[in-house]
Amino acid sequence: MNKKLSIKIITLFPEFINNFADSFGILKKAILNNLLEIKPVNLRQFGIGERQAVDDRPYGGGVGMVLRPDILHKAIKKAKSKKSKVILLTPQGKKFNQQTAQRLSEANNLVFVCGRYEGFDERIRKFVDEEISIGDYVLMGGELPALVISEAVMRLRPGILGKIESTENESFSAGKLEYPQYTKPEVWKVGGKNLRVPKVLSTGHHKNIADFRSKKADKRTKKRRPDLFV
Ligand code: SAM
Repeated sequence: MNKKLSIKIITLFPEFINNFADSFGILKKAILNNLLEIKPVNLRQFGIGERQAVDDRPYGGGVGMVLRPDILHKAIKKAKSKKSKVILLTPQGKKFNQQTAQRLSEANNLVFVCGRYEGFDERIRKFVDEEISIGDYVLMGGELPALVISEAVMRLRPGILGKIESTENESFSAGKLEYPQYTKPEVWKVGGKNLRVPKVLSTGHHKNIADFRSKKADKRTKKRRPDLFV
């Protein structure tokens, strides 16, 4: 039986995560089939004082608010189990890619820590296993990065997609971009032109089709992403 992937997301916006978990078929099915749980951990519940404050002004001055390390630490302790991998979302982290998704898909328990405002107190870095960025740009919070990573990871887990083979030839999995895909109509009349599906794809000749796709994938990768050809 396939093991369950448990994802906990420490956030100030639990509804954001709940809405995602309730959003589309494959995800809901995976949750119902006990292959996946994706749950927010509300940072606010660990806040202090009447207003349940989770942040404060930065020492040394500067704009914005910074999440307190003691509050984040309490949330991490609550969310993690012995086997959890704790991931801090930050634009200063290692850039996320398919290899990282593959590696994370081997863990059964992931905890994501979402920053907000100006970010988090530096000292919390000592209490996480790794730091990940989803790209060289700055978002308002870690929720979208946590969900981007979660989605890339969960679809690699056995049983979640209909056929696990469907991830094997995909872009990046085999170190290159995927070959071009076609479906009906075989001849598409558009703007005074006839756009045809390449003939070889309708021959049923498996080897020729595989050769054609492999060549197309190589050509496309060389042109668009020569960096993948190292
Ligand atoms: N002041 C921080 C800096 O310059 O590095 C940016 C803080 S950002 C406005 C607030 C939070 O959004 C971050 O703490 C992080 O959790 C999340 N975040 C923003 N951009 C991100 C990215 N590219 N990848 C991962 N997390 C990101």
